[in-house]
Amino acid sequence: MKRAALLLLAWAAFAAAQNRPLNVIAIGAHPDDCDIKFGGTAAKMAKAGYRVKFLSVTNGDAGHQAMGGGTLALRRLKEAQESARRLGIAEYEILDNHDGELLPTLEVRKQIIRAIRKWNADIVISPRPNDYHPDHRYTGVLVQDAAYMVVVPNVAPDTPPLTKNPIFLYYQDGFQRPNPFRPDVVVDIDNVWDVKINAMDAHVSQFYEWLAWVEGALDQVPKDPAARKKWLSEQRLQPLTEAVKKTLVEELGAERAAKVDHTESFELCEYGRRPTIEELRKMFPLN
Ligand SMILES: [Zn+2]
Repeated sequence: MKRAALLLLAWAAFAAAQNRPLNVIAIGAHPDDCDIKFGGTAAKMAKAGYRVKFLSVTNGDAGHQAMGGGTLALRRLKEAQESARRLGIAEYEILDNHDGELLPTLEVRKQIIRAIRKWNADIVISPRPNDYHPDHRYTGVLVQDAAYMVVVPNVAPDTPPLTKNPIFLYYQDGFQRPNPFRPDVVVDIDNVWDVKINAMDAHVSQFYEWLAWVEGALDQVPKDPAARKKWLSEQRLQPLTEAVKKTLVEELGAERAAKVDHTESFELCEYGRRPTIEELRKMFPLN
């Protein structure tokens, strides 16, 4: 039997054991962060029947060189909804907190606790709490601060607590201090790379305007829609790190791992439920 068929069987057995598909909530600081870090895996999961939600903790109202405030927040909400549609995920929610001003307050912590509970999450994914951008950093802190509280009934008592602590994971990043990212699970996203780029292409205000402006590359963005999507795909191509390659070999074997161009990787957080690495990998559509 092919590995893909075996994986599907393992997944079906898991879903049957708990009588429902897995609920996954990916949390990012801005309305494109989840797409960048998790879009490929999310598309694969959605296709396999998982319930996938993206949650942006800020509304993105600072992410542009020529517009801002409510006008930008609304534009980005529409872009995010279009991205969700292209990925096939169930929901993309944006919390109404200002971009660039996020703080790890009790109020925002409770927003996150409620969102995780309402989604009845089995898996929660967030940034690590070390990052150049304070919104990313505090999103990491906020999710960590919620990791235990989601099961505590007296905290945010207006929303019923989870009866089982979810698994908490981190997105891949390149920061080395205090410790480098550890790829516990690596997902081969080659067969959904175009889907991921197509979803990112929906964030016109970001990839073709704001981020291009920040990088001084605004004049390099092609005008033609097909050409700029190709440009985006080339921009986003990243060589696999040695740590990612090592995990990929463990998962797929050396021969198949060598053929993989695009991946998304995740690290198991020390908080929340801690499955074995084997169990964790079985929960992901690895290839
Ligand atoms: Zn961001």
